Amino acid sequence: MITKHLPLPSPAPGMQRHLMVHEYGSGPRKAYLQAGLHADEWPGLLTLQHLMASLDTLEQAGHIHQRVVIVPFANPVGMNQRLFGKFPGRFDATTGQNFNRGMSLSIGALTHRVGHLLGADAELNDGHLREAMRQLVSEKSGGYEIEALHKALLSQSIDAHLMLDLHCDDEALPHVFYGDHQRSTGDQLGDCLGFAIRLEEDVRGTVAFDGSHTQPWVSLAESTGMPFAEPCFAATVELRGQKDVSDALARRDAEGLLAFLERQGFVSNSGAAAQPQQGETLSINVDKVKVVPSPANGLVVYHRSLGDWVDEGELLAEIVLLDSSRPARIPVPAPATGRLFSQTNTFLTSPGASIGMIASKDQQIAPGTQLSY
Ligand SMILES: [Zn+2]
Repeated sequence: MITKHLPLPSPAPGMQRHLMVHEYGSGPRKAYLQAGLHADEWPGLLTLQHLMASLDTLEQAGHIHQRVVIVPFANPVGMNQRLFGKFPGRFDATTGQNFNRGMSLSIGALTHRVGHLLGADAELNDGHLREAMRQLVSEKSGGYEIEALHKALLSQSIDAHLMLDLHCDDEALPHVFYGDHQRSTGDQLGDCLGFAIRLEEDVRGTVAFDGSHTQPWVSLAESTGMPFAEPCFAATVELRGQKDVSDALARRDAEGLLAFLERQGFVSNSGAAAQPQQGETLSINVDKVKVVPSPANGLVVYHRSLGDWVDEGELLAEIVLLDSSRPARIPVPAPATGRLFSQTNTFLTSPGASIGMIASKDQQIAPGTQLSY
């Protein structure tokens, strides 16, 4: 295993930050895993520590057969955003930008760079596209600190064959996001992790870090009609809620990730097993997720629990009004039938704020618009 330290530009006099990158194994294929891009989401940080312990053992036994790159903390900028005892780690304090947006490569620039080189040989096409993506990343501006951070992360990940970005929700059942063109690999990942909720995305719209890795392959295949041999599979893995940080959960999730790496040919003899799953598998397009907005200011109290199946119209929660002359509550009926898989942990809520997510079987929003806000 080789460890690199990638320096980030100094944000203030006397201050220097860096990214740490561990690279195991060698070979033509690369798996890339990172945690904590949203710096206030910590379960994945512990999961990667458990995974690294397993990879250390496998490496000594000669059982790592391709490259496995681990970025154990993907956002040292956000991890330093302590504010009065809290960690506002989702948005960059300098630019206001969500740390998990704005990283996609220009498809026009990629097409210009590589379109004329593509032909009938799928493996050659893979090489051309990966090289062009590396070039575009190297040419990215690194002005603002968040841009330099994104550039440093992409410099390690953009040419990966498999990319897993570990996040978590406020409070949630474990779930995964991946491109709707890669259901079989997404199902294999969900099966290994034992995650019942699997959300499939159209990666041709606004994308996060994961979709930044798959969008070029989908777009270039569509626009040129040329074949590719092994486009990147990328997923966002949501490791439950922010407070679900424990060795027991991290050990379980690391084993599931290792089982997936083994099925994908990166390691062997790991002994890692697919993890048991709670509830029936629900593989749906993310446009079938119903976000439940709060109708009012006040305190949210839930009448249904995480993981419950709810029917449209039944009482899901109430908003306790604090500024009413007498004690009063506004009922929040379930806006869709499905499984309640996410709740807020900000109980003092306001109009429009999300207080839950329901995985339903009906379309709730226009395809490809889930990340437009
Ligand atoms: Zn996140």
